[in-house]
Amino acid sequence: MDQYKVTAGEINRLLKSQAEKSRLIIPIEEGEQVELKEFRENDNPSLIVDSFRPYDPLKTFLMSPFEEVATFPEKMSEIEAPNLTLFGFKACSTNHIRLLDEIMLDDEWPDVFYRKRRENLFIISCDCVEVRDTCFCTEVGLKPYPTTGNFDLNISHLNDQFIITVGSEEGHRALAEASLNLQEISDEIRENLQEQRQEITERVKNQNDDYGIDEKIHEPVRENRDAGVFAEKAEDCVECGGCNLVCSSCYCFYLADREVGEEAFRRFRVWDSCQYNAYARLAGDETPRPMLMQRIRHRIAHKFDYLKESFDYYGCVGCGRCISACPADIDIRELLQGVQK
Ligand code: SF4
Ligand code: SF4
Repeated sequence: MDQYKVTAGEINRLLKSQAEKSRLIIPIEEGEQVELKEFRENDNPSLIVDSFRPYDPLKTFLMSPFEEVATFPEKMSEIEAPNLTLFGFKACSTNHIRLLDEIMLDDEWPDVFYRKRRENLFIISCDCVEVRDTCFCTEVGLKPYPTTGNFDLNISHLNDQFIITVGSEEGHRALAEASLNLQEISDEIRENLQEQRQEITERVKNQNDDYGIDEKIHEPVRENRDAGVFAEKAEDCVECGGCNLVCSSCYCFYLADREVGEEAFRRFRVWDSCQYNAYARLAGDETPRPMLMQRIRHRIAHKFDYLKESFDYYGCVGCGRCISACPADIDIRELLQGVQK
């Protein structure tokens, strides 16, 4: 992939150029929280690049939490998906996109709503420089910088300079349109970047040593279905579904029909959570997982066994959002640790 060196001023110019042709969303640190905001011209590019990953999941921009998806008897009008640039999401989110694209852009049954938004989405990701105690991407085979593609441009902040990596043709086009002064990078800069990335990777690894998560965690997840940790965590879980709703690797939804006249209906799609008792409920009010511990086990099995078998990577990228969101302080790493016992 092509890489160039630029200054903070050039990053600002890139931001302004994107803001002229698309809605531009950036992360802004507000105390401990990282919120998503519309870009304003006086926002500091260095702070945006260095910000911790936003709390909100990227899927919000691709799969609306609540939306109309069909009408009867009239046909729905075409979905509107204005151009959107997301700036400052981290590698965990580019890894989320890998899975979402796989699921939602299925060759035979693509999700037309997702596809339209995805086509008009431009992603400028940034290397992680801050590691918080909820981060564990290294424990699920990933890194705190993009390794699986799924970005248009990626920015690494190295001392007082920025390295732009181009991930797509659209990325090349955006750089040309912003008329940036791109400079070739030397072998020394390349090595320094590698060292910086290695150092941050080690920090993530080290802080997760105590969990001892095996790189083949899918094996105990499959074999140890009766692990006591599921029942143990079910005692604390309040079934709020927050862990699913903040996770961009969770894409389940349900469909609800509303009668709006004689023989006229509107169909809505709403994000769903496999932790809810009503999830997967069948006719006759039966459910295959009536106990909460079964639903917690299902969440783990789906991410670490079923998706691994389907795509050869996990349905968890180690972003830690579910850990931050859980009002019962349930940490997915402790679930994995418990499964290994
Ligand atoms: S399960 Fe939790 S840590 Fe894993 S990707 Fe989802 S929100 Fe992130
Ligand atoms: S966020 Fe925590 S309390 Fe809520 S459903 Fe998930 S595990 Fe249970």
